[in-house]
Amino acid sequence: MPNSYKIAVLAGDGIGPEVMAEALKVLRKIEASPGIKFEFNEQLVGGAAIDAVGQALPAETVAACAQSDAILFGSVGGPKWEKLPPNEQPERGALLPLRKHFGLFANLRPSICYPSLTHASPVKDSIIEGGFNVLCVRELTGGLYFGQPKFCKEIDGEMTAVDTMVYKKSEIERIAHVAFKAAQGRSKHVTSIDKANVLENGILWRATVEEIARQYPDVKLAHLYVDNAAMQLIKNPKGFDVVLCENLFGDILSDEMAMIAGSLGMLASASLGKPKGDGLYFGLFEPSGGTAPDIAGKGIANPIAQILSAALMLRFSLGLKKEAVTIEAAVRKVIDDGLRTGDIYSGAEGTRKVGTKEIGDAITERV
Ligand code: NAD
Repeated sequence: MPNSYKIAVLAGDGIGPEVMAEALKVLRKIEASPGIKFEFNEQLVGGAAIDAVGQALPAETVAACAQSDAILFGSVGGPKWEKLPPNEQPERGALLPLRKHFGLFANLRPSICYPSLTHASPVKDSIIEGGFNVLCVRELTGGLYFGQPKFCKEIDGEMTAVDTMVYKKSEIERIAHVAFKAAQGRSKHVTSIDKANVLENGILWRATVEEIARQYPDVKLAHLYVDNAAMQLIKNPKGFDVVLCENLFGDILSDEMAMIAGSLGMLASASLGKPKGDGLYFGLFEPSGGTAPDIAGKGIANPIAQILSAALMLRFSLGLKKEAVTIEAAVRKVIDDGLRTGDIYSGAEGTRKVGTKEIGDAITERV
């Protein structure tokens, strides 16, 4: 009997369904290996769900996710739904409640710049020659975004805004474990980011990460203040392996890393919830970019971010590490073979511009 894995498939809007179709094609090829069976449960989400049933996250979709081993998410939103009240809009109405409902506390964003795609990066060739691969591990449910009190009101005759940064030790511990475990499967180096010279949160963050590090003697730990980290990541991205951040710092630095890597269409992400045991997590896996309304429906979107998100899902939620590596290698091979969607095409010799389906087929063939 093959191992059967249940996957909730939420393609969403814009290029979501186009790139999702390619990721499912790749997963079906993986399914050809003996012992693996995927049960895809495709559900409505975002603008598509608003149009069909009047809400961005129907109860049926949540129920399907709860019955699954992982959620493979496309992206949601677009001009059509921008005039709705903020809480009913696709992103706020679907993605944030999903994160909350499933307690997705860890955001992982690998920033990979392939050696043959360094032209897509705004950083000088002398710095990124040969490419790089940095994993940003961001705490997603604590810190300044959620701490109370949080308000903007008149105090002593003047409008005053207050946000509160709060971290409990246990919240730092669980995200640190995610970072150290991820590092064990990579180059075994964690750089923890804080502002321990100014913030109480930073002092607790640093001390807690050091404590957890003792459980991972094979992983090297370094600390950087966030302002210095922002500079070092541009100066020498190749010097980093896993970057561990609290919520606000991770929000900013992961975008900085995405920019340094080049195209949004290449970058996958994972949001992990409760550990399921065996080092696996329930999680939601999605491209870092959005619905790209400017190119939606034209068959030219880059499906690689979605395909690499599926690989992250195999690694972190399903325990199919070998198959994840197979998909990542197939992507690399297609890039090496010169196939490019428009977002990564430079006209360089030996390269060819192709559409969503063609690059998806090429990756599937090489799996
Ligand atoms: P975007 O990421 O959709 O697009 C920014 C630029 O990157 C565009 O030029 C787009 O064509 C390009 N791009 C993105 N993904 C690409 C891909 N796979 N292949 C080729 N090019 C790609 O960001 P935006 O324009 O700010 O947002 C558009 C919509 O997406 C908005 O409604 C926004 O709310 C939504 N959005 C959703 C998510 C999500 O679902 N997680 C994330 C970000 C934005």
